[in-house]
Amino acid sequence: ITPPMGWNLDNSYARLPHHFYSKLAPVPVAEPRLAVLNEGLAGALGLDAEALRSAAGVETLAGNRLPEGADPLAQAYTGHQFGHFTMLGDGRALLLGEQRTPDGRRVDIQLKGSGRTPYSRSGDGRAALGPMLREYIISEAMHGLGIPTTRSLAVVSTGEQIVRESLLPGAVLVRVAASHLRVGTFQYAAALDDKEQLRALADYALQRHAPEAAQDEDGRYVGLLRAVIARQAELIARWQLAGFIHGVMNTDNMAVSGETIDYGPCAFMDAYDPETVFSSIDRQGRYAYGNQPRIAAWNLARFAESLLPLLAEDEARALELGEEAIGAFAGLYHGYWLDGMRAKLGLFGRDDHEEDETLVQELLAMLQEQGADYTNAFRALTLERPEDSGLTAADAWTAWQTRWQARLDSQSESREQSLQLMRRSNPAVIPRNHRVEEALAAAEQDGDYGVMHALLAALADPYAYTAEQVAYCAAAPASAGPYRTYC
Ligand code: AMP
Ligand code: MG
Ligand code: MG
Repeated sequence: ITPPMGWNLDNSYARLPHHFYSKLAPVPVAEPRLAVLNEGLAGALGLDAEALRSAAGVETLAGNRLPEGADPLAQAYTGHQFGHFTMLGDGRALLLGEQRTPDGRRVDIQLKGSGRTPYSRSGDGRAALGPMLREYIISEAMHGLGIPTTRSLAVVSTGEQIVRESLLPGAVLVRVAASHLRVGTFQYAAALDDKEQLRALADYALQRHAPEAAQDEDGRYVGLLRAVIARQAELIARWQLAGFIHGVMNTDNMAVSGETIDYGPCAFMDAYDPETVFSSIDRQGRYAYGNQPRIAAWNLARFAESLLPLLAEDEARALELGEEAIGAFAGLYHGYWLDGMRAKLGLFGRDDHEEDETLVQELLAMLQEQGADYTNAFRALTLERPEDSGLTAADAWTAWQTRWQARLDSQSESREQSLQLMRRSNPAVIPRNHRVEEALAAAEQDGDYGVMHALLAALADPYAYTAEQVAYCAAAPASAGPYRTYC
């Protein structure tokens, strides 16, 4: 007898016109074994962790057995990959449906690595254990940081080898998302060149992600565009503030929900440098840390273009509304970013302190010049240990601190309030690249998941500043060499 797992699925996406997906079942895997289960997330979704751990539960997470109510499909989409428009779609993932949670949300349950689909092109439809564990760690770290993100319910190893540069153990990741609607989904809809198909998708996105946008004075679709732009402006600001580099900001990897999606070659910046790139395939630095806001705006312009036929009956008016919405991105982004930077420095108030931006820029310039670690510099300021900032006590640094202190003293909030704001805004820990690699190596090579669980525990609340977290704060030793990530 199988205990009930708590699935409460409905696939509303499957009610869209059939162009938007292909229905098919996951390809079973040889020997599914649970590698990691996110018990907290399972509970929040109304799922029974114990039942998911059972043989039947693991078969379900692997795609060998469908949960009740599942209606599996591969989503169709296109995307600009490094600027080049390509037909894509889920080549190795299937949407089972949306879990309706006890708190009334509706979230996608997707299996990644579930076998070939009509969109696989030359790919094998499979995923390797290491990258799926990596997505699990980084997405959970992002969640801990409070940054909107897809999440990871489980990773199941498949007992199969997959062919990459070498033979690697295969795995399936169970991904949870507000939805998997992408900018690329809208580009796909626009390419169908049928206004009713596009309208169906836009209405669906509105209903799921921005019902309030239907009240926009310029109409619901302009409302959708504005809502998505505002959400992305906030998201990208959060990335910049945390030093997160996505690595492959193709339009198919930008979610309309405003969640971070598709953890491939992403990594966190150590030393502050806007030119930081980790991805081995990003040879031009298109997706470098400092380029992320610009690229987001570029992607959103593709979103606006896709929506044009819906924005207004009159073409010129539609263009005007689209351009105006895109034009707002830079200001929105900058506002979120500057607010966030003020918080990182314990500064309250906004419009009346124009000098704050100069203060921030001068600090960043010093960090860059001296190659100081971004996270640890702000952590040192939060702990009132400027001597640990990685900045040497040159005149400029001393002068900067004097001006910062004067600005702090000028506000009515107490020092304690400032320090609390800084603690909420400056993580003590981020998923350091060498610690992530260490956790993956232990899991992949020795089947030892203890290292990964300890890392996940340290990352669960990065603003806690616990004694246990101190061990995870150090930047990679110089001997580690430059870090490279792969898709
Ligand atoms: P990504 O770079 O992860 O955004 O993936 C780009 C496209 O390649 C998406 O359509 C994926 O579904 C597809 N893809 C990636 N890896 C595989 C694979 N092993 N087999 C089939 N399709 C894949
Ligand atoms: Mg992708
Ligand atoms: Mg990917």
